[in-house]
Amino acid sequence: MAEEAIDLVREPDPHHREWLLQLRAQTATNIADGRRSELVFEDLVAVLADRIDRSYAAIVIICEDDVPRVRASNAPVPINHLVHGSDRSRWFGAWSASYTRNVDTIVPEIAVSSLYREHRKTFVEHGLLASRAAPLMGRHAIVGGSIVVMLEQARLLDSDEIDVFEEVASLAALALRREQERDEILDRLRYDPLTGLENRDGLEDHLRTTLNSSRMDGPAVGLLFVDIDDLTLINDSLGHSAGDLVISTTANRIREQLMRSDHVVRFGGDEFIVVLDQIDSIADARTVAERIRDAIKEPLEIEGTVLTTTVSIGIATANARTPPLQLIDEGHAAVVRAKQNGRGSTALHDEQLDAGASDRLGREQRLQHALEDGELTVFWQPKIDLQTGKIAGAEALVRWQHPEKGILGPDGFIPTAERAALIDELTDWVLQQAIGEAVTLTEHVPGFNAAINLSATQLVRPDINFVIAAGLERFGLPAEALIIELTESSLANQDVIERLDELRNNGVKLAIDDFGTGYSSLSYVRSLPVGIVKIDRAFLVGLESDGSGAPVLAAAVAMAHALGKSTTVEGIETLEQLAGLRALDVGWGQGYLFAEPAPLDALLNQIEDNPTW
Ligand code: C2E
Ligand code: CA
Ligand code: CA
Repeated sequence: MAEEAIDLVREPDPHHREWLLQLRAQTATNIADGRRSELVFEDLVAVLADRIDRSYAAIVIICEDDVPRVRASNAPVPINHLVHGSDRSRWFGAWSASYTRNVDTIVPEIAVSSLYREHRKTFVEHGLLASRAAPLMGRHAIVGGSIVVMLEQARLLDSDEIDVFEEVASLAALALRREQERDEILDRLRYDPLTGLENRDGLEDHLRTTLNSSRMDGPAVGLLFVDIDDLTLINDSLGHSAGDLVISTTANRIREQLMRSDHVVRFGGDEFIVVLDQIDSIADARTVAERIRDAIKEPLEIEGTVLTTTVSIGIATANARTPPLQLIDEGHAAVVRAKQNGRGSTALHDEQLDAGASDRLGREQRLQHALEDGELTVFWQPKIDLQTGKIAGAEALVRWQHPEKGILGPDGFIPTAERAALIDELTDWVLQQAIGEAVTLTEHVPGFNAAINLSATQLVRPDINFVIAAGLERFGLPAEALIIELTESSLANQDVIERLDELRNNGVKLAIDDFGTGYSSLSYVRSLPVGIVKIDRAFLVGLESDGSGAPVLAAAVAMAHALGKSTTVEGIETLEQLAGLRALDVGWGQGYLFAEPAPLDALLNQIEDNPTW
C-alpha cells in the first residue's frame, strides 16, 4: 500500500497551483488506499501548520449525540480540552459557528470576538489571536464537523493561504465521507435486514465481554438458543413471505420479553440466540425462556390465515471461566434435545438439567410451607409529606422470615411465587395482614395512607377488587386510607383499567410505581385512573440541594403536576436530595434517610417520636 505521510516542502509561489494539485493527488491516493482517517486528518493539520505562517490547526468531528471530538490538532492541549467532548450549550468559537451555520467563519481578532465568549482570555494567553474555520460536509449532505486554523497574529489569511486552507478543508471532508461510508457499510453488514437484529458476527465478541465482566462462581450469564419449529413447513405451504413474517414476528416477540441489558442476535435462518446478562440462577434463564415461549404461542395472522407457531429453546449458563464458543455449543446441544422432546419444548444443557429442576421444585415447596407456617411478615417504610416534614403514610413491603437464612426480601421469592401459582395466596395474605396493621397506624396518624404493592398478575384476577374490599370491610379501614401501587406493565389491558376505575370510584388511591423505568410516557399516564406518580430512585442521580442537576426528574415532576397527579419520590438517602426535592415541589418522599423498611412496632415508635424533616 502506498501509505505515505505527506511530506511536501514549502515551495515558492510560482509552483503554488502545482503544489496544491500534488497535495490533492497524494491525499486522495492515501484515502483510496485505506489510510486511516485519523492519520489523514493528522497529515492535513500538519500541512496547514506548515503552509500558513505561525498557525495551528484542528479538525473537529461531531458525533451522533452532538459531542465534538477533536480528531487531529496541533493546538495547545488546554485549547483542545475546551472543545473536546463539550456540551452543546457550551460550544464557542469559529469551529462551532462553521458547523452549526454551514458557512466559513472568519475571526480576525479573537480578543474582541463574541464567538469566543468567556474563552477569549485563554486563547490570547496561548498566543492565538485570529482564526478561520470551514464546515466539513459529510455524507447525505449533512455537515459533520469543521476544520479550523488559529493564527498567532491578529490578521486575515492571504490569498495563497486561503487556497491551501480551502483545499485542505475539502480533502478533510473527503476523508470524513469515506469514513462515514465505511461505517455505514459495516453497520449494514452487522444487522439482519429482515428482523433488524444483529447477525451472528458480533456474538462471540459480545459473549466474551459479557463473560469477562461476570462472576467466577455459579451461573452468571444465560444463553437461550431459540429455534422456530417447522419453519420449512410454513415456507412450503404458505410461501416464503409467510415464513419471513413468522421470523420477523418471532424476533419482535423475543425482543419484547427482554431487558435492555439483554442481547439477541439472529443466528441463522430460523435460529436466534439470546444472551442474558447478570442472572442469579438457572431458574432466571428458565423464566425468560418460558416467557418467550408463551409470547410466541400467541396466534399470528398471515393474509387471512391464523397460525400458531412454537419455538424450542435450549438453555445453557456460564460464568467468567466459560469460553464463548463452548457456551454457544452447549446452547445448541440443549436445543437439539428440546426438539427431541417435541415442538415447543425447553431443555437445559445436560448437567444442569437435574440440578435446575430440583432446585426450583425445592424452592417452590419451601415457599408453600412458609405461607402455611406463617413465616411471612410485613415491613413498613414511612412516606414523608415534604411540605410538613411529617410522616403521612407508609408502604407495606413483604418479607420472609426464613428459619435458616434470616429475613429475605421480596425480589428473592416473589418470582418463585409467580411461577408456582402461589402469588394469589401470597397477595391475599399481604392484603389482609397489611390492612389489619394499617388500622393501628391510622389510629396514630390522622389521614394516614397505607400503600400495598400488587404485581401485574394480580390485576388480571377477576376477584381482586373483591379481596381488597373484603379486607377493608373486615378491619374497618376506610378505602381512602389505602393506596395500591401498580407497575406500568400491569396496565396493558382494558379489563384491568375498568377494574382500577372501580377501585378508584370506591375511594382507593392508585399509584404508578417505579415510574420512568418502563417505557410509558406521562401523556399515557394522563389517561389512567392513577392519581399518584411514584418516581423511581434512579432519577435522583445528580440532584443538588437547589433542585438542579437532575433534569429528567425535574421534568417528570413538573409534568405530573401539570396533569394533576401527586408525586412521590422513592429512594431518598441524603439531606441534599431531600432539599432538592423540596425545591422541585415534590409531594411525598420515601427512603433510607427517613427509615428503612421495618416491622410495625418500629414504625409506631418512630411515629411516637414525632420527627420532623
Ligand atoms: P418497590 O415497590 O419499588 O419498593 C421499594 C424498594 O426500595 C423496597 O425494596 C425498599 O426496601 C427499597 N428502598 C426503600 N428506600 C430505599 C433507599 O433509600 N435506597 C435504596 N437503595 N432502596 C430503598 P424491597 O422491600 O426489597 O422490595 C422490592 C420490590 O418487591 C418492591 O419494589 C415491590 O415491587 C415488590 N414487593 C414488595 N412487597 C410486595 C408485595 O407484598 N407484593 C408484591 N406483589 N410485590 C411486593
Ligand atoms: Ca412500591
Ligand atoms: Ca418503586
